Amino acid sequence: MVPVIAIDGPSGSGKGTIAALVAERLGWHCLDSGALYRVLGLAAERRRLDLDDPLVLVELAATLPVAFEAQRVLLDGEDVTNLIRTEAAGLAASRVAVHRGVRDALLGWQRRMARPPGLVADGRDMGTVVFPDAPLKCFLDASPEARAMRRYKQLKEKGLDANLPTLVEEIRARDQRDRERAAAPLRVADGALVLDTTALSITQVLDQVLDAARR
Ligand code: C5P
Repeated sequence: MVPVIAIDGPSGSGKGTIAALVAERLGWHCLDSGALYRVLGLAAERRRLDLDDPLVLVELAATLPVAFEAQRVLLDGEDVTNLIRTEAAGLAASRVAVHRGVRDALLGWQRRMARPPGLVADGRDMGTVVFPDAPLKCFLDASPEARAMRRYKQLKEKGLDANLPTLVEEIRARDQRDRERAAAPLRVADGALVLDTTALSITQVLDQVLDAARR
């Protein structure tokens, strides 16, 4: 069986950064499952679909023309790598992600990413639902304020407008939706290594995950 490291956590917990670095160190593939939900949200909005209607969304999820190529995400062949990173796309993603049928339709796609020599997968349900047999599961967390501050810095670095109190509000709203939904709510997988990254550097988190992977 192809080894998988599952890294889950709320938005801004650093899981995407850590997953990419762990994959690079090990020479493994990397799955950013949030990007998949973001592309689905974007595709649904472009087609003017009702984000609360599971039936049309399941059909779209089952046939989603998405491809991950190197560092780029393609929708219908168009590079949407930057477009899916907006807060609006994150919100659309969290709305389409509440539907159980949508999540089921994306399961096979995500599992097929587990190819030799191994996969590092990050998201909300990697350890609980998609890869429940992963030999290593991690759950990264941080205070909403710390997560909003990281996002704030990222936006400022890109020269984009950012308002810290608004970001804290948005993070709290998305957390609530992700934790309280009926389908695959965000929670710590059994046996997961839980890391509060509020006061940790990227290197400190990376070292702890790599240490656990070697054990
Ligand atoms: O991780 P990211 O912020 O890119 O994810 C965007 C949204 O997609 C999350 O807020 C969550 O609602 C949803 N998601 C999910 N399950 C995953 C990954 C993301 O429900 N495995």
